[in-house]
Amino acid sequence: MCEDNDVVQRLLECEKNLEECNNESKSWVDSLRELSVIKNAFVTQEGDRLEGKTILDIGTDCVKPLYIALKFEPDKIIGINEGLLSIGSDIETQSKLLTKTKLSFYDCSFFDEVSFRKILEKEGIDEFDFILLSKTVHHLRTGKCVNEEHKKNGKCPEDEKCCKYAFEPEMLFEKLLRFGKRIIIYEFFDPNDTDDDKIRGRGGYFTTRELKEALVYLSEKYRIRFIRPQEFSLDKTRLNDVDLMLREVDTICFYVEERG
Ligand SMILES: [Zn+2]
Repeated sequence: MCEDNDVVQRLLECEKNLEECNNESKSWVDSLRELSVIKNAFVTQEGDRLEGKTILDIGTDCVKPLYIALKFEPDKIIGINEGLLSIGSDIETQSKLLTKTKLSFYDCSFFDEVSFRKILEKEGIDEFDFILLSKTVHHLRTGKCVNEEHKKNGKCPEDEKCCKYAFEPEMLFEKLLRFGKRIIIYEFFDPNDTDDDKIRGRGGYFTTRELKEALVYLSEKYRIRFIRPQEFSLDKTRLNDVDLMLREVDTICFYVEERG
């Protein structure tokens, strides 16, 4: 019996390692695809040069920061993630030979305000020029379950099966814009696919309805510029086009700024 347990334990460990390897190797190619779109969101009135700029990559895969550093050479890129990939520390040290950009990665959640502020203090940054969230925003849900059944029963099952956490753009974007001038969102969504994770991700990818609601809210309050599927500014006159657009694509990219 004891031996059986050992074998199971080892198999589970192997499975976990394999999954991490798989995620790591995929991120090298996925990042290229994502950046071919995201790079257009870095263009400002000053052009597309990123020299002297700072970027925060929330939910980083550590690979996109490296590519961005090699191609655009911003001043600094900080990547944070809950459960940082182990390649982070290698990329951080080994990249020094090839780029002037300072890369730093931290195992930290954006919701962990105390640790996050410590990082900012250590790095000497108050506000980033860009905050990038690539395939990450749907993980930044509240801890509040909105499953009707669970709400009716007044509690959630222990394993949180079928729990669906709410997405509240009000709080999230107010906080993001406190730390960054331009918030760049790249998001994949598919009602038939799942991307459950242990913490705060319940509910998986966005539904088109959730996205529409978030975009309506954001466009009333902030300046929204779409990059993908096409470049346009989202204002009241374009809101009606959003339904159709969300039905036709499974990946969008846009950025959010304070109106000024
Ligand atoms: Zn629940």
